[in-house]
Amino acid sequence: MTGPESMSTDFTPTSGEEPPSLYLHIPFCRSRCAYCSFNSYACQAPPAAYLAALAGQISHWAGKKWCRERRFASLFIGGGTPTIYKGSELAGLVGLCLKSFNFREDAEITVEANPNTVTVEALLALRRAGVNRLSLGVQAFSDRLLAGLGRSHTVAEAHAAIDAARRAGFANINLDLMYGLPGQSAADWRDTLASALAHKPGHLACYELTIEDGTPFARLVERGELSLPGEGEALAMVELTHDLLARAGLGRYEISNYAAPGRECRHNLNYWRNGGYLGLGAGAVSCLSGFRFGTVAEPEEFAGLVQKGELPLAEGECLPLAARFRESVVMGLRLLEGVSFARLQRQFGLTPVGYYGKMLEDLCRQGLVEISHDRLRLTRAGLPVANQVLARLV
Ligand code: SF4
Repeated sequence: MTGPESMSTDFTPTSGEEPPSLYLHIPFCRSRCAYCSFNSYACQAPPAAYLAALAGQISHWAGKKWCRERRFASLFIGGGTPTIYKGSELAGLVGLCLKSFNFREDAEITVEANPNTVTVEALLALRRAGVNRLSLGVQAFSDRLLAGLGRSHTVAEAHAAIDAARRAGFANINLDLMYGLPGQSAADWRDTLASALAHKPGHLACYELTIEDGTPFARLVERGELSLPGEGEALAMVELTHDLLARAGLGRYEISNYAAPGRECRHNLNYWRNGGYLGLGAGAVSCLSGFRFGTVAEPEEFAGLVQKGELPLAEGECLPLAARFRESVVMGLRLLEGVSFARLQRQFGLTPVGYYGKMLEDLCRQGLVEISHDRLRLTRAGLPVANQVLARLV
């Protein structure tokens, strides 16, 4: 690991890389959800100084050689809750990015939003600024379950937000949903999926609740006060997901993500294919040609450093080739398409068969991964235990 004082921010591009993506982090939410482990802070009035610091970082990085020599394929403004800022403020940020960086004409430009922070007017401002994809954190179509998660919005607000997005002209909408929630039955999950599908979204992200250390949910689990669905119920929810979404024409393309043809999230595909990315904002991470570094997580410290003309960097590391190769395999296996041997060979001069040897043979023999048509991928049996399989390949 390298300290920020010794890091340069001019990198030499590596030839043959795919177009990178740009991420901006907005670390504020109206309140904190009981399961949240993201870099987010509860606040009612998000500080203007933070947006000014982000703008400063956009200008700084746009002038760097690595950025100047690339055409970015996507921009994703995530959080936190980006739409805690006014539509005009976010639109200004998007406009600055599009003006400062070189983007492909067909770039995917996503803003994440929570249902109780959007209006048609704000969404129209985003559309006019060039935002062409909206990702709404709906999580559940049940007020009882939303309250249990500590979400700050209701089911009625979720329906209203999706309607507002359609009225503002968003054709490309993702809904984030969660299953395996305290007090949730398979029938509840079926209702949530049915309500989501009634809006005909092009993309659904269905995440299983995970209990992260340091969260209120983790403390409840420790005290034995959180009742989660049993293994059988959770499995029934997974099967329901595949079944209902396949019938609705949403294909599973990643462990937790489903899309209509052509609506796969290009920004996230770039992460899963281990492409380059620049992350700006508190706690954001970047990976430029194998050099990975993070930004200080605390928003006030981030804004203060930028204001003083200092780089708000935390720490960085230059990843050895073998580590990048393993990462590419592990990230790529999250995709149903798997990883291409030819691509790995081209990028790293290595293939999974040569690198992992007997370990890969064992996984193949156990029926958890398969090799076919120049690709390594998880099998049907491997997908439900993906985390265990991937842990062996890290
Ligand atoms: S809305 Fe998202 S980022 Fe904000 S507290 Fe809830 S889970 Fe965390």
